[in-house]
Amino acid sequence: MNSGRTRLIGRRQTLSAVVFSTTIIATVAALPLRAAVERRFAAPPVITPGTHSSAPSDAIVLFDGSNLDAWTYTDGRAAQWTIDGDAMVVKPGSGSIMSKPKFNSAQVHLEFATPPAHGEGQERGNSGMYIQGRYEVQILDSFENETYPDGQCSAIYGQYPPLVNASRGPGQWQTYDVIFHAPKFDENGKKTAPGTITVFHNGVLTQDHVELQGVTGGNLSEESPEPGPLMLQDHGNTMRFRNIWFRTLD
Ligand code: MG
Repeated sequence: MNSGRTRLIGRRQTLSAVVFSTTIIATVAALPLRAAVERRFAAPPVITPGTHSSAPSDAIVLFDGSNLDAWTYTDGRAAQWTIDGDAMVVKPGSGSIMSKPKFNSAQVHLEFATPPAHGEGQERGNSGMYIQGRYEVQILDSFENETYPDGQCSAIYGQYPPLVNASRGPGQWQTYDVIFHAPKFDENGKKTAPGTITVFHNGVLTQDHVELQGVTGGNLSEESPEPGPLMLQDHGNTMRFRNIWFRTLD
């Protein structure tokens, strides 16, 4: 009886020792792999994410509701669009504005609200967000308002219709979140790879990493390795904008 119990305890101890040894071997075996992973990648920077859609800590803020200091008209004059609450409002006929900070590849965030609906097609709530002043992500009141697909809201104007129409109605705040990778150029300035753009409209994927075919109409400058600003189009409609920022991806 006693000897049987001793054997049982002995077997348990042996089993424990095997499990313990296996754990040590597994741990030791995993160590070089873990170290290799840590060496292969630099640790991603730690940032503080924004709440809702406010700017994260590493963003360059272009408009936070307080002033238009980061903006000029495209001829360099100080921007004279109006500020109403936390929004800037297009002053129709005064001209498009561009940001003073410029960027190459970037993540861009912007919010907009279209004015009360009147007019049809391209005449209703028209503006545009020009990435680098070169590529227009169309802004339009596309809520129950038909137009040509490559000219509706969230189209890359004249190049790509959006995958879906995710528009909200007039006066409602809408969001654009864009991931833009600038075209690549060789040392002679010849383009070797097109730029790409991904767009989320109100959090919905509307442009899925499409290749830009070149600049869109109304552009500030031609494609080049030079960085460009964000440009907001005065198309004669009292569009509202707020909470505009970008993060460089170079
Ligand atoms: Mg437009």
